[in-house]
Amino acid sequence: MKRLDTDVVVIGGGSTGLGVVRDAAMRGYRAVLVERVDLGQGTTGRFHGLLHSGGRYVVSDPGSATECAEENAILRRIQASAVEDTGGFFVTLAGDDPAYADKFLEGAKATGVPATEISVAEALRREPRLDPRIQRAIEVADGSVDGWQLVWGAARSAMAHGAKVLTYHRVTKIERDGDRVAAVICRDEKGGEDVRITCTFVLNCAGPWAGQIAEMAGAEPVAVVPGRGIMIAMNHRLVNTVINRCVYPTDGDILVPVHTVSIIGTTDIHETDPDHLPIPRKEVQQMLDAGEAMIPGFRKARALHAWSGSRPLIKDQRVSVEDTRHMSRGMAVIDHSQTDGLNGMLTIGGGKLTTYRLMAEHIVDAMCAQLGEQRACTTADEVIDFNNDPPKNYVITHRLEDREEDRLDDQIICECELMSKRMFVEALDEQPTGTLDDLRRQLRLGMGPCQGGFCSMRAAGIAHDHGAIDVERATGLLRMFLKNRWIGLWPILYGDQVRQTALNDWIYQGTLDVEHLPVPAEEVVR
Ligand SMILES: Cc1cc2nc3c(=O)[nH]c(=O)nc-3n(C[C@H](O)[C@H](O)[C@H](O)COP(=O)(O)OP(=O)(O)OC[C@H]3O[C@@H](n4cnc5c(N)ncnc54)[C@H](O)[C@@H]3O)c2cc1C
Repeated sequence: MKRLDTDVVVIGGGSTGLGVVRDAAMRGYRAVLVERVDLGQGTTGRFHGLLHSGGRYVVSDPGSATECAEENAILRRIQASAVEDTGGFFVTLAGDDPAYADKFLEGAKATGVPATEISVAEALRREPRLDPRIQRAIEVADGSVDGWQLVWGAARSAMAHGAKVLTYHRVTKIERDGDRVAAVICRDEKGGEDVRITCTFVLNCAGPWAGQIAEMAGAEPVAVVPGRGIMIAMNHRLVNTVINRCVYPTDGDILVPVHTVSIIGTTDIHETDPDHLPIPRKEVQQMLDAGEAMIPGFRKARALHAWSGSRPLIKDQRVSVEDTRHMSRGMAVIDHSQTDGLNGMLTIGGGKLTTYRLMAEHIVDAMCAQLGEQRACTTADEVIDFNNDPPKNYVITHRLEDREEDRLDDQIICECELMSKRMFVEALDEQPTGTLDDLRRQLRLGMGPCQGGFCSMRAAGIAHDHGAIDVERATGLLRMFLKNRWIGLWPILYGDQVRQTALNDWIYQGTLDVEHLPVPAEEVVR
């Protein structure tokens, strides 16, 4: 068994865990983060893409509204390259109560969320696809945020401050020494070896899996309630501004432009197992109807991909456990020395991706307090994008710009997302044992209109040549990639998407006979 020794083990490589490991390392702690799969593969890779202005919560959850507004401003400063400054509108549709907009404006003032009412004519001028019957429009500072760029930025910053980030390390056991945590045991899923990490503190940032982790330490299951939501990416940018319905938060009331697509969502259903999240067709229809209500003709656009994620909500005593829609989005730190008599372990839940930095500050403050140490948090001051000076937000045309600057002779691998061979090879060099899905998350490989139809086999070929993997692993990776894409395709198979899927199938089965290519004895899963 391999052995490591550290001050703090952070469990979970989503936005919260990455924020926490960065914060702990910046305060001078030796910190190791362990994640059972790739970074941002849990809820953080399965969210809506909205950098909240706070507007959504000004009436329903004022505390969360203020936190979102403050963190929105900080993230734009420290992680500009992960944010697109789309701006946002809250619009009152024809059938909605126009008086809610007054409550909204009052709430925005009280919570410090910048919001200005604009004329309907101005809103329609800027977003001509909006339903022309809208009654009111309020402008807010929403943005679009790339969760994977955000977590990888935080990971690089944490590593620059001395932290270790171990992906594909699954926690299997937490050892105690009397009433203290003593070590975390992980399984290195790629190397096949167990790793024992002795430590003074464990920070449980496993999102909707936090209850499972707490149980491994012999603590009572923590009250994290998975609230599932589905989202659908439409095949182009139907809007360039985030569009929210100006109503009390409900299903399907937000449309977010993210890179080359726009994403409609979401639902909120209580689930018990965050590893098995369905995408029911009835919810797909509900989302398409919700999109149609904001943007007439929405259903004529092609739905490209659907997915579901599970909010790590903290049980809220005000509502029933089934009612995840109305549970607070506020964050909470659970101190296991208080709840279970277990020292050296804290769990965090709730919150949003937008507030990930603040969540980290809270839990690391709580750890310092328990250790009786005063070490100030500096994460809001240090810019993460050191290569992005002066700080620039990303814009939809950035890959075209880069290409025109110096990449015209670089072969394009993914036409939909303008991903070049050089970009792919650089990412492969950084993650030589990465799967095509791991590289997809960083590069958007196969995330555009063809959903991998043309680019994934090119990528598998390059991984074989450049990455020096054998042909069985290359074709195994390709099959795994196609299988994973399929999970988000079958619930939306209608209209033009059926044609695209049939074309992709013809390419893979008709020309490549992908089902019968040589593969390793065991299916490639990681
Ligand atoms: C449908 C939906 C839409 C959302 N939309 C938005 C939005 O638009 N804007 C916004 O700001 N927020 C949004 N959120 C909220 C946001 O996505 C989450 O709050 C945030 O991503 C949670 O991050 P996390 O790191 O706490 O959890 P996760 O990202 O789930 O990370 C937990 C990690 O723990 C790992 N893990 C589990 N078990 C183990 C183990 N045994 N060993 C090692 N690792 C383990 C998991 O693999 C996972 O990567 C949305 C959430 C949902 C569900």
